[in-house]
Amino acid sequence: MDRRLLPATTLRLFNRRFNSTVSTATVLQTLKPEPAALTIVNLDDHRKLFASVSTSKLLRSSINLGLASNETFVDFGMWVMNSRLMETSLVRDVILKTVKHTMFEHFCAGETTEEAGECVRKIHDAGLRGMLVYAVEHTGDNTGCDRNLEGFLRCVEFSKSLPPSSVSFLIAKITAICPIGLLRRVSDLLRWQYKDPSFNLPWKLHTLPIFSTSSPLYHTLQKPPPLTPEEELDLELAHRRLQKLCQKCVQESVPLLIDAEYTSLQPAIDYFTYSSAIKHNQDGNPIVYGTVQAYLKDAKERLFMASKAAEKLGVPMGFKLVRGAYMSSETESASSLGYDSPIHNSIDETHACYNDYAGFLLKRIANGNDAVVFATHNIDSGKLAACRARNLGIQKGNRRLEFAQLYGMSEALSFGLRNAGFQVSKYLPYGPVDMVMPYLLRRAEENRGLLSTSNIDRVLMWKELKRRIKSLEFGK
Ligand SMILES: Cc1cc2nc3c(=O)[nH]c(=O)nc-3n(C[C@H](O)[C@H](O)[C@H](O)COP(=O)(O)OP(=O)(O)OC[C@H]3O[C@@H](n4cnc5c(N)ncnc54)[C@H](O)[C@@H]3O)c2cc1C
Repeated sequence: MDRRLLPATTLRLFNRRFNSTVSTATVLQTLKPEPAALTIVNLDDHRKLFASVSTSKLLRSSINLGLASNETFVDFGMWVMNSRLMETSLVRDVILKTVKHTMFEHFCAGETTEEAGECVRKIHDAGLRGMLVYAVEHTGDNTGCDRNLEGFLRCVEFSKSLPPSSVSFLIAKITAICPIGLLRRVSDLLRWQYKDPSFNLPWKLHTLPIFSTSSPLYHTLQKPPPLTPEEELDLELAHRRLQKLCQKCVQESVPLLIDAEYTSLQPAIDYFTYSSAIKHNQDGNPIVYGTVQAYLKDAKERLFMASKAAEKLGVPMGFKLVRGAYMSSETESASSLGYDSPIHNSIDETHACYNDYAGFLLKRIANGNDAVVFATHNIDSGKLAACRARNLGIQKGNRRLEFAQLYGMSEALSFGLRNAGFQVSKYLPYGPVDMVMPYLLRRAEENRGLLSTSNIDRVLMWKELKRRIKSLEFGK
């Protein structure tokens, strides 16, 4: 891996200061009493929440989350990783080892498929399921894409050896199996065709709607040249990779969930996802799921259109609903081109949209359409969705409804939803430490500062640790 582990954008992110004058009391206010209807998911009883977690794991998690929320510690770590010190192999080894025993151990499931499998077994014993994430992303050439595909296929094959239903999904990023430059080109061409429907794309397969009238089109300001024969061949190879992966997932009955990434590439990602879903989502249950980012201003229309179009075709569709993880880069890239950010102007709008789309998807599930994964650490969204599901009569074991949190994050919410009888998965990235570094950096960004979601976990974990110490319950 390149010595400079952090791209410039990420570095700027890490230099950004958050409001660090917020007290623990502010965090505790988040745990305020609430309307009775929302108490289906109970996060007050820390003893019950963490009953399946050993004291040593609880202690390590609290320490790691504490470190991740400490801005000085994170800034220092980032500075070291970008300094010339990393050129010295001894220093580099020490740094990567430190990362491995702190952030990596906390947020990742291991370095190998076998270690990830071990992690799946543990969380399955605790009543949760695992989303297996071979954490490759952003590949430049076909050789790298072929190698990544082998990794994904190995992962699906390996899932057979794990307890039945302990693996809920295989997660993949399209940027791992299609060269990123080609994804950019295909996105440009799809955008241009949306602007000018007479623009012919001879390679284009049957898909669901990708754009809406509010979709950002500023990434493509000029008519792009058609794909060259080499590019068309590369596109065909990328399709073949995805089809091979889909077939393997169908064969092993492991649904495939495609992550969402940057808006510059998302049209091509959606195109790959939807064209594969049309082909493989048969027999009632979806096998290929896409991801919708609620922080995007055009997400609502796109979700409604895709969902309705799939229904019309008789294709069961699955969606993972997230807020979105690429906020700073989206805003930066739009403003560098002189356009407004494609992301909602306020966090409250994003929250409202997330809950609104969740309601829409739950109604569809109640009517026997679509399937959804509510991927969120937001306690209000989690509780609200759980409450609505119950009110709509969606049965606890319904396979079309899943909640998910990242491994090492929002443990309280995961256990609270599990205790309320819902299916809950943890997103388990694995791979060598330097390979998962971009993922770890996004987690460091998300967890830093006293207002991060993880602070609720820390408060509850400390309460439980104190309780165990008081009652001398060390054996757990
Ligand atoms: C299982 C799982 C899978 C995921 N997969 C993906 C994926 O495929 N693609 C992807 O992009 N993300 C993915 N994410 C990450 C997710 O999008 C969020 O980054 C993260 O989970 C935070 O959102 P939240 O729902 O947990 O809610 P919260 O914890 O309430 O999120 C708040 C965060 O939302 C962000 N935000 C959104 N909109 C705004 C706005 N308008 N103004 C200010 N801040 C805003 C801020 O960073 C803020 O800190 C995934 C998350 C999970 C749990």
